[in-house]
Amino acid sequence: MRALVVGAGLAGLTAAHDLAARGVDVQVLEARDRVGGRTHGIEVADGDWADAGAAYLGERHTELLALMADTDLKAVPTAMEGASRFALTTGDARTPDAQSVPGRFPPLSGVALGELFDLLDEVTRTVRVDAPWLTPDAERLDATTAAEWAEEHLTHADARLFFPLFLGEMMAADPADVSVLHMAFYLRSGGGLRYLNAFAGGAQESRIDGGAHRLCEVLAARLGDRVRLGEPVLAVTQDDDGVTVGTAVTSYRGDAVIIAVPPVLADRIDFRPAPPAPRSGDRTAPGCAVKVHLVHPAPLWRETGLSGWSVSSDGPLLSTVDDSPPGGVGVLTGFVTGEEARRYAALPLAEQRAAAVAQAGRLFPGLPEPIGFHVTDWLNEPYSQGCYAALFGPGDWIARGPGLTRPHGRVHWAGTETSTAFFGLMEGAIRSGHRAAAEAADQQPTSGRAL
Ligand code: FAD
Repeated sequence: MRALVVGAGLAGLTAAHDLAARGVDVQVLEARDRVGGRTHGIEVADGDWADAGAAYLGERHTELLALMADTDLKAVPTAMEGASRFALTTGDARTPDAQSVPGRFPPLSGVALGELFDLLDEVTRTVRVDAPWLTPDAERLDATTAAEWAEEHLTHADARLFFPLFLGEMMAADPADVSVLHMAFYLRSGGGLRYLNAFAGGAQESRIDGGAHRLCEVLAARLGDRVRLGEPVLAVTQDDDGVTVGTAVTSYRGDAVIIAVPPVLADRIDFRPAPPAPRSGDRTAPGCAVKVHLVHPAPLWRETGLSGWSVSSDGPLLSTVDDSPPGGVGVLTGFVTGEEARRYAALPLAEQRAAAVAQAGRLFPGLPEPIGFHVTDWLNEPYSQGCYAALFGPGDWIARGPGLTRPHGRVHWAGTETSTAFFGLMEGAIRSGHRAAAEAADQQPTSGRAL
């Protein structure tokens, strides 16, 4: 059997690796000139790497941990010791200076935030995570945006202030872009809002030593010349005997193909025959995140008892975290998310730098000019079109959910957006790769006829 895999992110490389292990002749076609997709490392100092894409993981990410063990990559704990910094504009009054707070609970009304989390828990509890479109009241939840939900349910100013910051950090989402059904599904799929939001014992407990991109590099090295870079797939044509995949360079023939790219990019491929329904719609939004790295000779904020973690209601850096490699330079990662990301992405680099450095100086008094500065704009990456993952807007789950993983003849679907467990995360991508590889390997050779 010969299988083709489109996309050399975690999903595609996992699928290819599984297929090769089963003795299938496999060929991976990747549009970019690198593997890794939404995992991407940048060398911020000699031998020190930072994650420009995915970074954090927790103990429930069992397939990711298994892959790390298999590829001999270690986890390093996310540094969270010390006080947090909050610069939050509450009510009508602007809080001009950042405040230091022990722990991670923001200096906002505990009652208001408690109510917010109770409301989120309530809506999250009801969702059918394996099949969100079958959730009780799915039609209504799918038709309503998270912004409309907040307008209706959040009465306290502090809850209204905090909710978009929370959604930005968790999902890189603007509340107007996601349906309530998608928000509830995403939170439940990732282990619940407390697990997703937590460092110690949660989904952000650790990072991969040397960078998450190394997972993909190791898998690609094992696959060798079965991975072709710089070959964007443009067309997939099925006939009775097999499938032809046309790239910008040449074409390939196989018995099955796995499409392991985000939904919006899958829809750009010319499928013949066309799948029963597109994989995205007018309301499917790109996740909105720009990641900023400020590099210092050492994690200087630790000297004043600060963890490097901060949350601000004014941008560009809506949150920051200490992503310093152990024993290396100091790396302060800034997250610019939601609507703020769209605005920031449009600025020239010099203005991006000036705004980020000025804000970091206010958050961490005495922090000098960084020795390195990096911006990774995922919104304008042609082969990602946003991150952390696609945001399903009103109508998406009902229209597209039931067909997300259903094979289309010889075409099989992978990618984190096809995993109902840990959707949007590395764990979801890996799980989807295992599933799609098993499906493709078990495919009946004549299934191309049954379109
Ligand atoms: P991708 O990684 O997007 O891979 C798809 C591949 O297909 C890409 O290599 C792309 O170039 C290629 N491609 C696209 N179109 C074509 C085409 N037509 N022909 C050929 N190739 C094509 N996850 C976590 O678990 N923890 C985190 O902390 C986290 N944080 C994140 C922060 C950021 C800034 C980003 C960007 C992502 C983050 N994620 C995080 C999400 C995580 O990166 C993704 O869920 C995961 O990497 C997706 O893998 P994938 O294989 O499904 O898709």
